[in-house]
Amino acid sequence: MTPTFERAVFVDRDGTLIEEVGYLDRVERVSFFPWTVAAVRALNRAGLAVVMVSNQSGLARGFFAESVVHDVHRRIADLLDAGAAHIDAYYYCPHHPDGKVPGLGITCECRKPARGLVDRAIREFGIDPKRSFVIGDRWVDVGLARAIGAKGVLVRTGYGDVEERMPPLGMTADAVVDNLVAASSWILNTL
Ligand SMILES: [Mg+2]
Ligand SMILES: [Zn+2]
Repeated sequence: MTPTFERAVFVDRDGTLIEEVGYLDRVERVSFFPWTVAAVRALNRAGLAVVMVSNQSGLARGFFAESVVHDVHRRIADLLDAGAAHIDAYYYCPHHPDGKVPGLGITCECRKPARGLVDRAIREFGIDPKRSFVIGDRWVDVGLARAIGAKGVLVRTGYGDVEERMPPLGMTADAVVDNLVAASSWILNTL
């Protein structure tokens, strides 16, 4: 049976959970930060669902196959498992309006900051988005937090240090911190 969770931490993948390497088209390019395992484990132990939410427009653009995405997520799961940590669900949006791949080159409901991936988690785990959190290195991640009424934490890894210097008009994060483990501590302190 699927466990139920009241709260979730929605975690961006590239630049947040793992190093930003441009389009991640080979599993060999998966690189954890030194703190990735500890950060996820702390959230696991606090009883929060950890749900990855990732925009993967490289699929719509035909840069790599869906099997690569699945291999990457299996690799992430294995590395976390070795440190007694886990992600409860891996969700990604394969779409982009400019994509040329049939069926994927569309304007969808799940490309962040749209809330489609979160709605899946709500259906699957019974999560209350208003008591949840989003962590990411881009303003679209904070935008997702705004869209669902969650708290949004911007991290300075990945594109985050650049993003911090150019916030979209009227957009502020609930916290801006150095990295995933700092974001995890910030969240645990607000509970
Ligand atoms: Mg990112
Ligand atoms: Zn989508």
